[in-house]
Amino acid sequence: SAAKPSNFLRQIIERDLEQGTYAQRHWAGQPADAQAHAQGPLDPARIRTRFPPEPNGYLHIGHAKSICLNFGLARDYNGVCHMRFDDTNPEKEEQEYVDGILDAVKWLGFSWDTNGTSHLYQASDYFDFMYRAAEYLVEAGLAYVDEQSAEEMRANRGDFGRPGKDSPFRSRSIDENLRRLRDMRDGRLADGAAVLRAKIDMASPNINLRDPALYRIKHAEHHNTGDRWCIYPMYTFAHPIEDALENITHSICTLEFEDQRPFYDWLLDRLAEGGLINKPHPRQYEFARLNLTYVVTSKRKLKQLVDEKHVDGWDDPRMPTIVGLRRRGYTPEAMQLFAERIGVSKANGWVDFSVLEQALRDDLDPKAARAMAVLDPVKLVITNWGALMGGDDVLDTCSAPVHPHDEARGRRSFSFGRVLWIERSDYEDVPPKGYNRLFPGNRVRLKYGHVVECTGAVRDAEGRLLEVHATLVPDTKSGTPGADAVKVKGNITWVGAADGVPAEVRLYDRLFSVPQPGTGERDFLDKLNPANLQVATAYVEPSLAQAAPDTRFQFERHGYFVADRQLHAPGRPVFNRATGMKDSWAK
Ligand code: ATP
Ligand code: MG
Ligand code: MG
Repeated sequence: SAAKPSNFLRQIIERDLEQGTYAQRHWAGQPADAQAHAQGPLDPARIRTRFPPEPNGYLHIGHAKSICLNFGLARDYNGVCHMRFDDTNPEKEEQEYVDGILDAVKWLGFSWDTNGTSHLYQASDYFDFMYRAAEYLVEAGLAYVDEQSAEEMRANRGDFGRPGKDSPFRSRSIDENLRRLRDMRDGRLADGAAVLRAKIDMASPNINLRDPALYRIKHAEHHNTGDRWCIYPMYTFAHPIEDALENITHSICTLEFEDQRPFYDWLLDRLAEGGLINKPHPRQYEFARLNLTYVVTSKRKLKQLVDEKHVDGWDDPRMPTIVGLRRRGYTPEAMQLFAERIGVSKANGWVDFSVLEQALRDDLDPKAARAMAVLDPVKLVITNWGALMGGDDVLDTCSAPVHPHDEARGRRSFSFGRVLWIERSDYEDVPPKGYNRLFPGNRVRLKYGHVVECTGAVRDAEGRLLEVHATLVPDTKSGTPGADAVKVKGNITWVGAADGVPAEVRLYDRLFSVPQPGTGERDFLDKLNPANLQVATAYVEPSLAQAAPDTRFQFERHGYFVADRQLHAPGRPVFNRATGMKDSWAK
């Protein structure tokens, strides 16, 4: 495979493969119910990564980084990446999100098939095993049921530099702990009345090791297990077990979890001692999460934007969700290219939104068909057209390559006539310095068409531009002999009034008006850019009238556009601007 830039994760994996770190792993000796979770053959020569979202919202660009990383490493090292739902929290999870997440992963170009069989993992399938692990810890004197109030627990946890205090319930007998844990499980205790905690060290400098909670009581229905359970494992307890049961080798997560790693190892070491799982166990590695300027990358904040109707749903093209970016015109290849370019590091920072846009331009430039569109149209009238052509209604056919670097893709054609649409900004009564477009007395080429000479303009009583007037310069049609004899500095785009098609064009600006809006809790809403969508009525060349939804184009001069997946229909074209031709974010 083409050499990929190395990074610390690749180095770790290469070292593990070389040293055969995981060569000794095998299922023999694992308890039967653990083995039952091993879907597919266990090949110790392979690495296993996982992508474990919680189904509590749609995925965003940060998740795309994690997907490309985990599935990408598995692909590059001939390993396997598990698609797993971390569905241990019964309350916030919905089937809609499960479906949306699977769609996003598939669309990005990854699959959870192994040898033609689909392997979807969900953490809730391991609730029985997790509960057994909890009883084991109690039996081994490594966990206890704490019945302090939430406030007492918080107060006794201590602080940085201030050790915590042992709970009065910490010294209960194993039998009493077991009985109370079963009371919790059997629904005899109310929500919040007790938690199961690991018995580690209330004075540890790492607060995560001060007897972390393992199970809590929640009388809530779960989308997979229904009302079978009224206690649910905490993420920090569940996650290492999920990884171990699935034989994950490299468990890659974001930096916030660095302080949890000692507990991850503590738990798996204890469970291995008890014979519940095999060694060597999975290792956790942390990388910096993606922060992208002018958007927020937190499902909770994105959900708030949707719920409070600041945007039109999760797939609003302004959203940094995968569905939103897709609708905006992004391609899976552009997202993968972006993930590769930003790489992985150990230091948190912000990536400029322009890096994402450049990845899209680089992907679309060689692919996207070209087209002309006029976004802010005004009429250009060729006053000598009838006289030269033998009638005002006569049309001349012009053509242009579908792609300038690939003649094999053929040509598109459109008509030139007495009236054309041009951009309002392509005319000035008095030209600013360096302005080469239309102004009285100046000549420009109408791209793929003829050279015209501007003769003036018509304005209404308020001074608003109604029409620009020009005369055609004969024998200057692009592609005909001698067309270049007349030299002009300006070259402008246009659409014929006779066959141009009106289209709704949606021009998106930054979602937020400050580069780092996501740092406050609620105040990020104050930073919404009020002008983040402008809807224009444009004219587009006739070849676009029949474009299929989701087709991407380069509108010459204007950038890359996509036929909207939801709103575009033949006869009612709607295009979204995915990105301009040049970086306009670092203004
Ligand atoms: P959020 O806070 O947005 O809900 P999360 O981390 O809680 O994010 P999960 O559903 O748990 O969301 O995420 C699944 C995986 O995606 C995790 O392994 C997580 O590390 C990774 N991930 C989430 N956000 C980012 C990000 N901004 N950059 C890189 N990876 C991310
Ligand atoms: Mg999470
Ligand atoms: Mg979260």
